[in-house]
Amino acid sequence: MNRRKFCRTAVAASVAAAIPMLPGCDRKAPVATEADTSLAAISLDGAEIELEKAAIRELGESLTGPVILSGHPEYDSARKIWNGMHDKRPALIARCLSSEDVSHAVTFARERNLLTAVRGGGHSWPGKSMCDDGIVIDLSQMHSVTADADKRRAYSQGGALLAALDTAAHEHGLITTAGVVSHTGVGGFTLGGGMGRLNRKYGLAIDNLRSAEIITADGQIRRASDDENTDLFWGIRGGGGNFGVVTEFEFQLHPFERNLLSGSIVWPVAQARDVLEFYGEWYQGLSDEMYVGPMMATMPDGTGVIIMEVVYNGDPAVGEKELAPLRKIGTPMDDGVKMQDYNIMQTQEDAAFGHGVRSYIKNGMVSEITQGLVDMMIESYKSDPRLAVFTHTLGGAAKRVGESDTAFPHRNAETMLGVGGGWMDPAEDESGIAASRDWYYQLEPFMGGYYDNIDFDGTEAVGNYGPAYERLSKIKGQYDPGNLFRLNSNVSPAV
Ligand SMILES: Cc1cc2nc3c(=O)[nH]c(=O)nc-3n(C[C@H](O)[C@H](O)[C@H](O)COP(=O)(O)OP(=O)(O)OC[C@H]3O[C@@H](n4cnc5c(N)ncnc54)[C@H](O)[C@@H]3O)c2cc1C
Repeated sequence: MNRRKFCRTAVAASVAAAIPMLPGCDRKAPVATEADTSLAAISLDGAEIELEKAAIRELGESLTGPVILSGHPEYDSARKIWNGMHDKRPALIARCLSSEDVSHAVTFARERNLLTAVRGGGHSWPGKSMCDDGIVIDLSQMHSVTADADKRRAYSQGGALLAALDTAAHEHGLITTAGVVSHTGVGGFTLGGGMGRLNRKYGLAIDNLRSAEIITADGQIRRASDDENTDLFWGIRGGGGNFGVVTEFEFQLHPFERNLLSGSIVWPVAQARDVLEFYGEWYQGLSDEMYVGPMMATMPDGTGVIIMEVVYNGDPAVGEKELAPLRKIGTPMDDGVKMQDYNIMQTQEDAAFGHGVRSYIKNGMVSEITQGLVDMMIESYKSDPRLAVFTHTLGGAAKRVGESDTAFPHRNAETMLGVGGGWMDPAEDESGIAASRDWYYQLEPFMGGYYDNIDFDGTEAVGNYGPAYERLSKIKGQYDPGNLFRLNSNVSPAV
């Protein structure tokens, strides 16, 4: 994705509501008329159903957070998610403030066989955290993160954002692996695996997950860890939102020097062959401390570039030595790798990936950067300021975790390769998606499986999970036999 262009462009009453008189609810909001005794909704299998307003009122009374229906002053803001491509209108939004609230909302949905979405940070590319005519279990107000320095643990509520996780850890000179845009949600990010700039040193987010509190489809509040509900704990580490609503994540933290060697080196795209061919050899010997990966994009003025983003999480003098050979390749237009606060890296893309951008991305996992892949990256490059090809570097600690130790199916990958971008004008959707797909399909022969979290289309859970699928399906059968949590890369419950 062309980050500068992205930045420029990115900044860029169906039914009267039965509003329960609850904290957070606006008493002046529309209330049900006598004639409106029910609310049209949709079931899990797509059938039209009616929800009794008395039952919705009862739900509202059981929650400490508000139930938001169409007509409520917050309805439109509550149904917005990050990707401007999605404009969905749920029948009701249960804005939960506690695990008990979540439990009530889950029970309400299950008892009515109601289509159910779970919203954490709202960054799902395909928009699965919002739905038309169903219920949204909204965790956006359950956003606090605390850290215990002695135990080296962070405790994140289910709707927290990555910024809060980084900040809570930093306050104690600690850190864990978080993603590269700080307004992304901890919830979806972690449940899908969780890649970030520290994953070669500390592993994926799931490798740092020590326990979770999860509300399963029966409404039970459970703990999952290596000691409790161990199968569930295995499943939520890579299995996405299939098994319930996580209300708390407990992460391992690590001592961390936040002033580190980091930044980007930029070359003209004409030098991409030199850079990629060098990288294709060099990456194999990199230390766990070194996170570095390529991106090819087009600047707003039409200049094609290849960028290497670098974060060295270790002694800077050692990092300088390790980085030196890359710096000798070609003639960079810019070398911004220097000592700087990790938080600068962690937030530098926030505006470029601003809320409301219309974004389409596809990706695939790459286990080896072959000459064929390098050739195709050069051949397939598109000069289009909306789009980019980019990587999430893996390997190191993320690769040393056993293939079946968690449900994350891509342990042998060296990198994730993503293609796509963003624009603001709906009129560009068709051409933007077509160009992204065209670029992606040229690279697809070099990929195996995809990272579900960063994919607009990916729904092939069976193939993508490989051998893990059968176990996931059994766990799904145990904890969500009715497939209430189906708006995800869905695993069918084994009967
Ligand atoms: C700008 C941007 C940058 C990104 N950068 C990275 C990155 O660096 N590394 C990376 O690995 N990924 C990255 N991603 C992908 C990201 O991990 C996914 O989009 C993820 O789903 C976001 O989580 P969320 O809570 O914000 O999403 P939401 O849209 O709220 O949720 C997505 C899905 O996750 C599930 N879910 C969310 N929270 C919970 C919960 N508490 N309990 C149960 N289920 C839940 C639900 O099934 C939901 O449909 C990025 C995405 C964006 C848009």
